[in-house]
Amino acid sequence: MSIIEQMTDLECEQLIICYDKGTGLKTAIAIHDTTLGPALGGVRMWSYTSEEEAVADAIRLARSMTYKAAIAGLNLGGGTAVIIGDPRKAKHEAMMRSLGRFVDSLCGRFIATTDVGTASEDMECLRAETRYVTGLPPYLGGSGDPSTSTAYGVLRAVEACTKHVFGSGWLKSKVVAVQGLGKVGSALARLLRAEGADVVACDIIDEATRGASRQFGATIVAPEEIYDVECDIFCPCALGGVISRDSIARLKAKIVAGSANNQLADPTCGKQLADKGIMYAPDYVANAGGAIQLALELTGHGLDGAKAKVAHIYDAMEAVIARAEAEKISTDQAADRMVEERIQSVRRVKNMKGTAFKPF
Ligand code: NAD
Repeated sequence: MSIIEQMTDLECEQLIICYDKGTGLKTAIAIHDTTLGPALGGVRMWSYTSEEEAVADAIRLARSMTYKAAIAGLNLGGGTAVIIGDPRKAKHEAMMRSLGRFVDSLCGRFIATTDVGTASEDMECLRAETRYVTGLPPYLGGSGDPSTSTAYGVLRAVEACTKHVFGSGWLKSKVVAVQGLGKVGSALARLLRAEGADVVACDIIDEATRGASRQFGATIVAPEEIYDVECDIFCPCALGGVISRDSIARLKAKIVAGSANNQLADPTCGKQLADKGIMYAPDYVANAGGAIQLALELTGHGLDGAKAKVAHIYDAMEAVIARAEAEKISTDQAADRMVEERIQSVRRVKNMKGTAFKPF
């Protein structure tokens, strides 16, 4: 698909390609939808193999940010900035400041935060050039890394699904398979253990698995074995696209709920999960906790308020399940409908505003 076709297909408002010779910055900023408010989105730095791959990723991620903000009840739209390059080798202060200037030139249409390949310290560099940045370190008045909030939100989605599937949200003795023990996966595994669940986990990094086994007694399996684990709940917390025809055939779990963005390899996978009797917590419903924390940071609220609001992911998940049952559709379709209705209704309000004549 051409870029315009991709934007049309996913209804992406704007795409900005930026290049800065001085710092070597090559970035694409996708602003998916600003109906509900300015587009909040992560800055992802990745060794993309082509510009096409980077742009496609930016558009897809921006769309999932719009949906995440909308279902979480935030007054924000969705965007994403992708930087082409290996964050371990090519990232430096000047490059981040350069991105900050480009973000500033958008006058608040896009608010940047961390994602894969960037951290709070990078947002500090952006902050030197723009105020349109969140996820800042606590010493700058920010709320810090949002991963703990994300993990807590996933736990709440897991509890809502567990209540529905097993008749009680009680996680004691449930077997939970966690794929990926990074920032979110390890925090989630710790929360699950605190609730009495048995955690089976994997990661491609030995240090991560050793830590999980030592610190909270997770049973470790090889990454390729995680789909075959005899478990009640499967939590994808590593990469997108992992719920595919192949993995669905192997899954033993009754619930899939995790933090990874864009988990479904294609749009039919949600229905395939439902047909197999597996309850799916749509990724953008389950993983909205971090976005909620960042939205509250923007309005000057602290972490305590964030935790209370993140807890409502339980209610959002219950509403999605109820809608799916009422309309006999899969949970991902139900969540999409709820988001699209909210955006559509607010779009009507905006249209009323556009009647005033502004001469210049
Ligand atoms: P992270 O980079 O800290 O952790 C990802 C982990 O997955 C790493 O430890 C990595 O080694 C592991 N991994 C990669 N490939 C794997 C594989 N094939 N099998 C097993 N493990 C593998 O990232 P994170 O911040 O913990 O985020 C995890 C996922 O959740 C990502 O998809 C991210 O986009 C998404 N997400 C994160 C947040 C957040 O607040 N951090 C919010 C929303 C969504």
